[in-house]
Amino acid sequence: MTLLKHAARTFLLSEFVKAMWLTFRYMFRPKATINYPYEKGPLSPRFRGEHALRRYANGEERCIACKLCEAICPAQAITIEAAVADDGTRRTTRYDIDMTKCIYCGYCEEACPVKYNMC
Ligand code: SF4
Ligand code: SF4
Repeated sequence: MTLLKHAARTFLLSEFVKAMWLTFRYMFRPKATINYPYEKGPLSPRFRGEHALRRYANGEERCIACKLCEAICPAQAITIEAAVADDGTRRTTRYDIDMTKCIYCGYCEEACPVKYNMC
C-alpha cells in the first residue's frame, strides 16, 4: 500500500502541485518584505535609535559635561571627561559610549538638560 501511495504521488506530481498552489496563494497577498534601505518599516513609538552628537546652529556642541547621562546609565556605558575651555565654559573633552553595553533604554536622553545625547 505504501509503495502504491508513493508511486501515485510520484506520477501525479502531487508535491509539485501542492508547492505551486502554495506559491499561487501567496502571489496575491501583501508582501512581507520591504526594499530596505529605500523603504523603511514602521518604528515603535518607544524606539530610541542611535546616539548622536548634536550641536547648536552656530556649530557649538550642546553638551555641557554635566555627567547626568553618565550617572543615570544603568549599563555604565558612558564615559565623560571634562575641562574648562578658553572662554571659561565647561566643555567635554571625551564622550564615549560603549555601544556593546548600551541597552537603548533612553535614560541618558531623558536626563540630558540640553538634549545633546539625543537618540
Ligand atoms: S540608552 Fe540607556 S544604556 Fe544606552 S547609553 Fe543611554 S542610558 Fe546607557
Ligand atoms: S547629560 Fe547631556 S549635557 Fe550632561 S554630560 Fe550627558 S550629554 Fe552632556
